[in-house]
Amino acid sequence: MKIIVCVKQVLAADRIKFDPRTYTMVRTADNSYINPNDLFALQMAVHLKERYGGRITAVTMGPPISEEVLREAMALGVDRGVLLSDRRFAGADTLATSYVLGMGIRKLGDFDLVLCGTVSTDSDTGQVGPQLAEEMHLPQVTGVEKIEKQGSTLRLERTSDGFREVMEVTPPVLVTVSRRAAPLRLPGLLDIQDAYGGRTFDCYTLEDLEAEENKVGLNGSGIWVTELAQVPKQKSCQFIKGDPRHQVQTLMEKLREKNLID
Ligand SMILES: Cc1cc2nc3c(=O)[nH]c(=O)nc-3n(C[C@H](O)[C@H](O)[C@H](O)COP(=O)(O)OP(=O)(O)OC[C@H]3O[C@@H](n4cnc5c(N)ncnc54)[C@H](O)[C@@H]3O)c2cc1C
Repeated sequence: MKIIVCVKQVLAADRIKFDPRTYTMVRTADNSYINPNDLFALQMAVHLKERYGGRITAVTMGPPISEEVLREAMALGVDRGVLLSDRRFAGADTLATSYVLGMGIRKLGDFDLVLCGTVSTDSDTGQVGPQLAEEMHLPQVTGVEKIEKQGSTLRLERTSDGFREVMEVTPPVLVTVSRRAAPLRLPGLLDIQDAYGGRTFDCYTLEDLEAEENKVGLNGSGIWVTELAQVPKQKSCQFIKGDPRHQVQTLMEKLREKNLID
């Protein structure tokens, strides 16, 4: 099975930095890491490769520092890493991101499966997977927990609104992988050493992708973030004094007052 996994570098929640002029995020080596939701897509790819054979390619669009996520992906079992990086890609909205990812994936040749995480933890739109499927005219299934190969088709499972859905799809297909998919495995020390040692990855620019300049980065974006302010967290802590019976009764009353229990 030829599998492509889209992985994004996200900002650590406690070290988020924004460019005050453009409201774009500033990514540095010490404040970025692989989107936790993409680990489930990577794990799914590794599981499928172990079961059915094949090859996994991880693709990311981002500044040069994003090579870090490719190395993390390689440590987890990815065969090839591809960085789509060009100053003109900067400031992309989800549509421009999906266009560049689509052009990058087309350049890689034929594939059976494109896997994405469901949502990134820094911008949180959840739009890139579905938009990439549209961009590439692929069928898509979101929030998938299990994939099995059945002859020339794939059997996919997902849970929605308390129902387990089973579907069959003929590849190529784009799938976003749920956090309910297989539990994560940590890479071994030798895998990390290998990924950060001699392994290289490919880097493609706008020209390499033969992409249209007016469809990438800020120029190609229909959406700009025009205002950004942190919402202050309102926390208050109250201690209930007295004996345990009194504490429980008071707590129940307070929860009822707030309509948190009947
Ligand atoms: C505060 C803020 C708000 C924003 N709001 C919007 C908005 O409302 N609409 C909009 O269009 N843009 C918005 N953007 C821009 C948007 O974050 C970027 O376009 C970003 O590149 C992709 O969006 P996302 O992180 O929400 O991806 P999501 O759609 O949440 O990511 C889903 C999956 O897509 C894949 N993926 C996403 N980005 C990449 C990548 N660069 N490389 C490889 N795989 C990737 C990963 O598998 C990921 O798990 C916002 C940016 C900021 C800073």
